[in-house]
Amino acid sequence: MALNILVAGGAGFVGSHLCDALLAQGHRVVCIDSFLTGSRQNLRPLRNHPGFTLIEQDICDPVQIDLPLDRVYNLACAASPPRYQADPVHTMMTCISGTGNLMRLAAQHGARFLQASTSEVYGDPERHPQSEDYWGNVNCTGPRACYDEGKRAAETLCFDWLRAGKGDVRVARIFNTYGPRMQPDDGRIVSNFLVQALRGDPLTVYGRGAQTRSFCFVSDLVAGLIALMEIDQNPGTPINLGNPGEFTVIELAKMVQEMIPTRSRIVYRPLPTDDPQRRRPDITRAKTILGWEPKVPLAEGLQETAAWFALTLGLDVPSRSGALVRA
Ligand code: UDP
Repeated sequence: MALNILVAGGAGFVGSHLCDALLAQGHRVVCIDSFLTGSRQNLRPLRNHPGFTLIEQDICDPVQIDLPLDRVYNLACAASPPRYQADPVHTMMTCISGTGNLMRLAAQHGARFLQASTSEVYGDPERHPQSEDYWGNVNCTGPRACYDEGKRAAETLCFDWLRAGKGDVRVARIFNTYGPRMQPDDGRIVSNFLVQALRGDPLTVYGRGAQTRSFCFVSDLVAGLIALMEIDQNPGTPINLGNPGEFTVIELAKMVQEMIPTRSRIVYRPLPTDDPQRRRPDITRAKTILGWEPKVPLAEGLQETAAWFALTLGLDVPSRSGALVRA
């Protein structure tokens, strides 16, 4: 059955892939985006799709939609540390007021609501891997707190709303995700390393590079978000969505050097404040409740992402022989 689906943050990296997937399933999609970090370029393939509507607005302002709505996905928030720290008060208000506005909208329409939460709710975790029953270790006054605490408060709103019987609210805790349409200047590790390697610039490793992350390809994540939204029985608990493969920052740098054999060397830069040391999802709940697990191996996803960056930025991809190949 074709549904009417609102995607807040639909012009962002993950949001635009979600819009694509929902339209491909035959649904109608209304995208709301302020274009603070989202990009019109991401929506290019959808602009003329008859099922697609774009509304340019900040979710911190009251949201009114006159069309019927069956589902509301809230992916509206800057997600990379340099971007969400650039205007920390706005980041926190997006998480709190923005989420509140969208939950009210969903309730008015009798629509299911899915909140994009984050592995950042676990902070610098003292438990490894992170399962959903771990309460986390977050510095509430540090520079990451606007996002970490904002997303934690948004989860609180969601579960209070659910307990009060005001709506069918679901929460996905998204771990590091990568793929085509990341902003090249986003500041995140995968986009930084790939763009640096393609340009022949040094790869910037923060700290000693011993910290770990788990990287999920965007198509896997989108499949998990839709599975969580569409499962009939509300799980009543947050669900981790991420790839449990765990890599140190140095391991990722070496994979990128191997894959894009430029002369890019590794340079070391200071570790950002409160940078989490370890991050790996326990996805038992996603597997058992949603029947979901990621499929795309890191090497394969990195290749696809590198090819996309090369094409978008008009860069050559050096081949192993050292010759330059036009992307
Ligand atoms: N990082 C790095 N070099 C970069 C960008 C990031 O070493 O050019 C490190 C960063 O310190 C962190 C990890 O990579 O330990 C992941 O950072 P990212 O900003 O991608 O996401 P986070 O998980 O910290 O939100």
